[in-house]
Amino acid sequence: MTPFRYEKPVNTGQAIEICRHAPAASYLAGGTNLVDLMRETIERPQTLVDVSGLSCAIQESGDGGLLIGAGVKNTAVAAHRTVRERFPLLAEAIVSGASGQIRNMASVGGNILQRTRCYYFYDGTSRCNKREPGAGCDALQGYNPNHAILGASKSCVATHPSDMCVALVALDATVHLEGPHGPRSIKLTELHRLPGDTPEIETELRPGDLITAVELRANRFAGRCSYRKVRDRSSFAFALVSVAAALELAGDGTIREARLALGGVAHKPWRARAAEAALAGATPTEAHFRKAADAELSAARALMHNAFKIELAKRVIVGSFVALAQSRGSA
Ligand code: SF4
Repeated sequence: MTPFRYEKPVNTGQAIEICRHAPAASYLAGGTNLVDLMRETIERPQTLVDVSGLSCAIQESGDGGLLIGAGVKNTAVAAHRTVRERFPLLAEAIVSGASGQIRNMASVGGNILQRTRCYYFYDGTSRCNKREPGAGCDALQGYNPNHAILGASKSCVATHPSDMCVALVALDATVHLEGPHGPRSIKLTELHRLPGDTPEIETELRPGDLITAVELRANRFAGRCSYRKVRDRSSFAFALVSVAAALELAGDGTIREARLALGGVAHKPWRARAAEAALAGATPTEAHFRKAADAELSAARALMHNAFKIELAKRVIVGSFVALAQSRGSA
């Protein structure tokens, strides 16, 4: 590990000031990803600005929404009564990720900003455009069952590893930031980037930006939503494919609104807009769900070892929606 300076600010403003003036500074929250990256010398911050004690509250907003501080631990979010009652999709996604010990340490902000688990990215002897721009990508012709089928490029085929973000994207979450130029907000769907020619630039964050909170607005999906994750083993594994699905049915039984996001398939949590559009106003039948899944995956492109993900994603989408349509629901 490369030596670094450690700073412990007492508030967000101080954290941003320290980060602004310190050379090669990184924010440190739970450290469940950053410390690994530092041990492998993939990241070499000269200053760590510890924000782990900041923004640690979950607040209800008057309109039935929720403001979740970026410093709240994943375990605390998943266990929060209001999250479980109004946003069970989020609780379900969080507990499907990592291990209990890691969820106890990992923060909301850190979960959003965790980096890909592409093996070649972590192996300093491999070529990786994300680690070293212009070096090439050994995953393209290498072992790539975990890699992307949607939105990838010739520069990078990595996937985003988060489960929590897949649920948040389906729930249309907004991310609140503070930075050297003041506060701003951005939809989570817009925060992460596709790789294009610059896979080393993973988000729309500007230098010094600090995620302070994630906001969820009230919705009517609590009674019909689910997070399904398919992985190589039953716990402590990243998704091959995951599906966050939610349905709202109209009085006549047709679909008023469907929400769908996919994990394990792209460089970012993938909001499945084509499938959602195909389902709006449709009757909730298996045939319509299959048509929607086909529409979403029509742009999928397989690598040498991950063609199975295309059909897998379709089947998990259909299975999720069929189960939701058949459930009694409460909204
Ligand atoms: Fe690096 Fe992306 Fe290629 Fe993995 S897929 S080796 S992260 S460039």
